[in-house]
Amino acid sequence: MEIKVLKDILSANDRIAQRNRQLLDSHKIFAVNIMASPGAGKTSLIMETTKRLEGRVKPGVIEGDIASSIDAEAVGKMGVPVVQINTGGECHLDANMISNALGSLPLPEIQVLFIENVGNLVCPAEFALGEHLKVLIVHTPEGDDKPFKYPLMFHAVDAVIINKIDLLPYVKFNLEAYTKTVKSINSQVAIFPLSCTTGQGLDAWVAWLVEMASSLTR
Ligand code: MG
Ligand code: ZN
Repeated sequence: MEIKVLKDILSANDRIAQRNRQLLDSHKIFAVNIMASPGAGKTSLIMETTKRLEGRVKPGVIEGDIASSIDAEAVGKMGVPVVQINTGGECHLDANMISNALGSLPLPEIQVLFIENVGNLVCPAEFALGEHLKVLIVHTPEGDDKPFKYPLMFHAVDAVIINKIDLLPYVKFNLEAYTKTVKSINSQVAIFPLSCTTGQGLDAWVAWLVEMASSLTR
């Protein structure tokens, strides 16, 4: 019985996600669903990426949090169109929340839309939002066991960003072994080791993102 309820919720969600996708496509907006555990650097990555897109691609941001608007305020200070979703306790974003958020963004002014999901490695992977790309951010201080514990998340995404590589000398994280494990779960996934603090590796990620987005807009 419970399984049936979950199935119904997910298929209703999928229908709304399809509508979101049509709306995004009609505005030639490339949407990126960014998932991670809390503190991995979702907001930092969005801000550092946005800086590097300046003059090339016009960004917009949807900030998802259980509570507060701290991240949305930080992004808004950069002059980027941003809307905050507070899920009021829900541990993931769903397509209906995105549908509402799209209604309060200046869509004709946006080319790449970053959707910062709620920090959680489980259910965000199950809820389609209408996005074109799913990206997972992991960070070196959380250790290298996450692909074993959350294989569904690693299987669902198009790219894995390994943030805070500047901390590699101080933490238990074997980058080479980690990359191999991720590839064994998802052979198609793109992997970007980088640091939002030092800027190392960010250009490769941004170049890839622009390339992916241009496949939609050309
Ligand atoms: Mg954040
Ligand atoms: Zn959830």
